[in-house]
Amino acid sequence: MDRKHSNYEVQIIGKPLRCPHCDSAIFSHREVYLDIVSPNVDVDPFNEDPPEQLVLQSFTCNDCYNIQQFQQLTKGMETNIVCKQVD
Ligand SMILES: [Zn+2]
Repeated sequence: MDRKHSNYEVQIIGKPLRCPHCDSAIFSHREVYLDIVSPNVDVDPFNEDPPEQLVLQSFTCNDCYNIQQFQQLTKGMETNIVCKQVD
């Protein structure tokens, strides 16, 4: 299954996700990885530590392409984000 081209209905903490612009409820999903680098620290070229990474679940509205992003939190079997494939 190629998740990149699938469409989803999404629930965040049990509430259906809606596009704030056009009110659509169908989204495509991808994961976004952000490297967190403090702007106040000089970049050390000899520092081998990988930067801290933030993983975001990104949902793109199928109608107007507005993007909403959430950080997934998992507690035991429970998660704040639930996706249901619709095509
Ligand atoms: Zn929209």
